[in-house]
Amino acid sequence: MDPRYKPVSVDVSNSDQMFSIEWADGHKTELPLFGLRKNCPCVTCRGGHSNMGKYEPELFKIDPPREYKITKAEPIGNHALKIHWDDGHNSGMYKWELFRDMDEAVQRLNNKKSD
Ligand SMILES: [Zn+2]
Repeated sequence: MDPRYKPVSVDVSNSDQMFSIEWADGHKTELPLFGLRKNCPCVTCRGGHSNMGKYEPELFKIDPPREYKITKAEPIGNHALKIHWDDGHNSGMYKWELFRDMDEAVQRLNNKKSD
């Protein structure tokens, strides 16, 4: 597996509203829970199969209007993480690549702003 997409450790902090992953290549990804919940990759949240794989990095940048908590995160094989949220939603299976791609999309947004 590509070390960029290979998680070494995963940390959920509901009190800090932050989800973090350390990758085998040494990079650390930190994503706010609100954006992660709103960018849930399941077909219901995406609004149909044609939107699968799409997400909005802007949702990680906004001031969250409410808190979401992760009650459970269970690995699916070695390719994804199924996240259970405190609002009862649990059909989102986040591929490891997705977390890293979201992180990089947020970084691109940040860079765009500072130009
Ligand atoms: Zn969903």
